[in-house]
Amino acid sequence: CGIVGYIGNKQAQDVLLHGMSKLEYRGYDSSGIAVFNDGDVTIKKTVGRLANLAELVDGPDRITGSQGIGHTRWATHGRPSDENAHPHQDQTGNFTIVHNGIIENYIPIREELIAKGHVFLSETDSEVVAHLLEELWTGDLFETVLLVNKRLHGAYALGIMSKYEPGKLIAVRKQSPLIIGLGQDENFIASDIPAILEYTRNVYILEDGEMAVLTQDSVKTFDLAGNPTEKNVYEVTWSA
Ligand code: GLU
Repeated sequence: CGIVGYIGNKQAQDVLLHGMSKLEYRGYDSSGIAVFNDGDVTIKKTVGRLANLAELVDGPDRITGSQGIGHTRWATHGRPSDENAHPHQDQTGNFTIVHNGIIENYIPIREELIAKGHVFLSETDSEVVAHLLEELWTGDLFETVLLVNKRLHGAYALGIMSKYEPGKLIAVRKQSPLIIGLGQDENFIASDIPAILEYTRNVYILEDGEMAVLTQDSVKTFDLAGNPTEKNVYEVTWSA
């Protein structure tokens, strides 16, 4: 029930775990992170407390890398399990996603993609998003996310990254809250402000039907048709 994303020069694992701990109040049954390291993406995820996840990436098992996405899951489709925990990937491993909310039409999409040869590893509604990205891939991540959005019904917030376009994170907000933290040579995605307050007080509150493309030193926002949107920076004056 929480999303965190990071792109910058800190160790992503630390920022993600910290942010996720600040979202614990939203409730969750499992958690996971995906971190870009040397052109590859490493995923660690587990059912249970965040402490279980922290243990998986402790000491020698630390994932080195400064870009990643993390998720605390409140299962709606598929029981709480390691396999159903997020992040999810398509079978090529080229697309990695975290999702909050519900993809209402996941069953027909899943059937269509299985018929096309996609192999699903979880029982979640969320996994179709990763496979759709692979299926509809145009050679451009932003463009492909717009196409995927058109196929999805329901309430969702998404964090997306692709091996094809390292150095980029995409966030999508549709009836599920999402904010962007604006830092110095680093930017953040989160379901709620407390997750990023340790690092920045400058925030974009995404509107329903808005998305953001983040790099280490830029954030651009768009509507779900791909038209640029104008944002005001909201300065957080309270403390968590
Ligand atoms: N519907 C998704 C799942 O069951 C996401 C749940 C959530 O928002 O945490 O995996």
